Amino acid sequence: MSSGTRWDVAIAGGGIVGAACALACAQRGLRVALVERDAIGSGATAAGMGHIVVMDDSEAQFALTRLSQQLWHTLAATLPASAEFEQRGTLWIAADRAELDAAEAKLHWYTERAVPCQLLTATQLAQAEPNLAGGLAGALLVTEDAVVYPPAAALELARRAQRLGAQLLLGRAVRRIGEGRIELEDGAEVTATHVIHALGADAVELAPDLPIRKRKGHLVITDRYPGFVQHQLVELGYLKSAHSVSGDSVAFNVQPRKTGQILIGSSRQFGAEHAETEQHMVSAMLARAARFLPGIRGLSAIRAWTGFRAATPDKLPLIGPDLHDPTVLLATGHEGLGITTSLATAELVADHITHREPAIPSAPYLPARYARAQTSGPESRQEETYAMDWSHAGADHGIQ
Ligand SMILES: Cc1cc2nc3c(=O)[nH]c(=O)nc-3n(C[C@H](O)[C@H](O)[C@H](O)COP(=O)(O)OP(=O)(O)OC[C@H]3O[C@@H](n4cnc5c(N)ncnc54)[C@H](O)[C@@H]3O)c2cc1C
Repeated sequence: MSSGTRWDVAIAGGGIVGAACALACAQRGLRVALVERDAIGSGATAAGMGHIVVMDDSEAQFALTRLSQQLWHTLAATLPASAEFEQRGTLWIAADRAELDAAEAKLHWYTERAVPCQLLTATQLAQAEPNLAGGLAGALLVTEDAVVYPPAAALELARRAQRLGAQLLLGRAVRRIGEGRIELEDGAEVTATHVIHALGADAVELAPDLPIRKRKGHLVITDRYPGFVQHQLVELGYLKSAHSVSGDSVAFNVQPRKTGQILIGSSRQFGAEHAETEQHMVSAMLARAARFLPGIRGLSAIRAWTGFRAATPDKLPLIGPDLHDPTVLLATGHEGLGITTSLATAELVADHITHREPAIPSAPYLPARYARAQTSGPESRQEETYAMDWSHAGADHGIQ
């Protein structure tokens, strides 16, 4: 690899974001190498839920999730069965009148932006999901939301890139990224015109000044109970509880898998760096789930695991040139939406490299939004550095 091959694009990280970038670049005729320490999709991508969801936290978040969702729908027709893509729709569940008002506000917001959705009454909700608890106020059904099995989808994207000539370097750890090259732990180098940094939450291991923090999440999966739930079910209550950025939190978020299994989420923790499952978080998640789905207590939960999201202060990913090195493009910081937003991220990255006008404005995701001038060195040089102020990150409205 250090033998003089110079690639157009070299990608560090073979999660769903790196794999999607590899495919988007290969589809544009670029020569691509992708380096992954373990197996394709084995990081946060394997730990995630695979809810392809349109979100309304900000216009920028909406633009990226909606574009991505449309790209997923286009891709779906040709995905293999192993990717388990299903258009299930999301039911945003309102527990009371105040939450129903929030559902109605969401309905108007989405309708104005041509996202198909409808409000369900309490009776319609009970008919749609008979295992839900009684006494709920209603729900918003967002019909184009979908479900995918993320590691299988990531592998498919990487294989497609490979068929277009991309080289996959698997089982190879990266120790440094910069100046048009990726240096591997074994001493080899991959050189390229553009280097994409797509290491997910591990991005901070190689670039500690990035405005990213690891945010731990737990999920639980049950045995097979086909038909127990039909839609992705998410509580709207997370809007009211407005968890702080520092506190641990759980939210009701349940997904039917094609296998008949039920994926139960989810938790969010800052400052928990160890990957072990924590019983108190699992118990809190299951208790929350049982409030909405009382029958869930009678199901057999077969496994729990954790993963790390790459969180940024403004809940938007970092997509675009690194402040310190224009040869490096960042594609990380996708927090709890990286399965959804991987495809649009890849298009933005490929558009940047090939100088094409992107389908949505790229400015909200540029790492430069965190730039601050800083004086350094004996000659008092001015340089740009990342300023990471988490105190203005605001309430946590994430669900995944
Ligand atoms: C509990 C949970 C639930 C989630 N649910 C959803 C959901 O429903 N919908 C959604 O859209 N998103 C969800 N997410 C978020 C989603 O999983 C992530 O945003 C997404 O997987 C990020 O992909 P990535 O490619 O950036 O990172 P990763 O998948 O982590 O990929 C990074 C890759 O880099 C590799 N790597 C790291 N260090 C090195 C190194 N030094 N050398 C070489 N390779 C290296 C890793 O092995 C890994 O494969 C969830 C996340 C969690 C934790």
